Amino acid sequence: MTDLYLGGSWRDPVAGGRREIRSPADGGLVATVAEATGADTEIAISEARRAFDEGPWPTTPERERGALLLRVADLLERDKKDFARAESLDTGKRLVESEYDVDDVVASLRYFGGIAGTEAGRVVDTGRDDAISRIVYEPVGVCGLITPWNYPLLQTSWKIAPALVAGNTFVLKPSEFTPSTAIMLMRLLEEAGLPPGVANLVLGAGAEVGAPLAEHPDVDMVSFTGGLATGRLIMASAAKTVKKVALELGGKNPNIVFADADFETAVDFALTAVFLHSGQVCSAGARLLVEDSLHDAFVDEVVRRAGRIRLGGPFDLEAETGPLISAAHLAKVEDYVAAGVAEGAVLRCGGQRLPGKGNFYPPTVLDECRRDMRVVREESFGPVLTVERFIGEDEAVRLGNDTDYGLAGAVWTQDAGKAQRVAKRLRHGTVWINDYHPYVPQAEWGGFKQSGVGRELGPTGLGEYREIKHVWQNVRPQPQRWFRG
Ligand code: NAD
Repeated sequence: MTDLYLGGSWRDPVAGGRREIRSPADGGLVATVAEATGADTEIAISEARRAFDEGPWPTTPERERGALLLRVADLLERDKKDFARAESLDTGKRLVESEYDVDDVVASLRYFGGIAGTEAGRVVDTGRDDAISRIVYEPVGVCGLITPWNYPLLQTSWKIAPALVAGNTFVLKPSEFTPSTAIMLMRLLEEAGLPPGVANLVLGAGAEVGAPLAEHPDVDMVSFTGGLATGRLIMASAAKTVKKVALELGGKNPNIVFADADFETAVDFALTAVFLHSGQVCSAGARLLVEDSLHDAFVDEVVRRAGRIRLGGPFDLEAETGPLISAAHLAKVEDYVAAGVAEGAVLRCGGQRLPGKGNFYPPTVLDECRRDMRVVREESFGPVLTVERFIGEDEAVRLGNDTDYGLAGAVWTQDAGKAQRVAKRLRHGTVWINDYHPYVPQAEWGGFKQSGVGRELGPTGLGEYREIKHVWQNVRPQPQRWFRG
């Protein structure tokens, strides 16, 4: 199968490798795709380098680059059903969730396509009448884009859209578990008229195919979304050539519920916060912090409803959430739960993998947790909710910030002043008040602390893919006579 996209043509991997993509829901064969090696990544980088150095993409007017993205958005809407189906087959997520994801991808493409050409830099006051000074934007160059398996197409769109608008060329390396929609997206870019070499796709394992993107001297920037351990490796490799780095890593996100919250709504969202996509969401509200006086009633209700959540495959209309991505990931989630129980957490529901085919693990609630437990400090990335108690605003903030991560968090209260005070003090890149999970492409997304470096989405998300140049012009040049001779 020729599904590496290199320099505008579809090619087989140099070493002829193949990988089977298996359904997380039943283990069935979904697809067989190319498995690249470092040699293919080398070709991809040289194609991207040539397309950047020789053009025409970097010098195409930004407005035209944006127009291409708008065309891709239209094509994606046309093919929405096919993309959603492919995404569900690879990830195991429900079809309806994949359809929402495609809508979100279309929105991202339209956002970046729409702001293209609206801002050309700025004129700086030099304080002199013989000099003009301007700040202009230029593309960074060749970008290595590395993406995860939980929201494969969405995370890809957050990178390729600003990268293209800014005039870069790129090599995309999607997760080896979920390559299908990346292949399909390359076909749409081709159909929309993107010049050869601007977009390049390599498929395969992280260490083999992704690592060279962080190390290679011809790559100017690496943008990565994935786990913390991989993020650290990428940052260290990128340091060797001092390339620009953008990292979107994990989170251990506090969902803080005060006693005066609207009970029904806060319970409902506590479930969605953590169990959406079976917890495989970087911003999952996996750490429930409940005010002591509300704790018993609130947790009883969360446990009752968590136990009723129906699991099933992507095309099961009765299912409310799906499987975990792989058997290895399922084992990791089991380990975290076992460690929590060993450290004294009280298992209130779940905690046992489901028998039969597929990587199904039920919604699990661990009560009476403490912040020193591994399951509280580290990201399980599964359907595991840990519960801690707090008394008052100060303790809520202290607990909410007591994590190495800083991606997202929420606060639930009917006291608007308290909500604002707590939101201000939380050290997280996104804070929701009386809500959980919404985001819009106009607003920046990213993490404080070890949740990452830089931002995606919003004007800053475009800025990550730009170099800033200061152009100074002396309009009345004459000798300065600093040196007399
Ligand atoms: P991962 O780090 O294992 O893999 C992510 C990508 O990196 C994959 O494409 C993988 O092949 C590649 N990779 C692995 N080793 C590599 C190496 N040495 N060099 C270069 N590339 C390498 O993460 P994952 O398991 O795919 O995704 C789950 C993680 O992603 C979670 O921790 C989650 O929180 C995080 N995530 C964060 C966000 C965010 O916006 N902050 C969004 C989605 C997922």
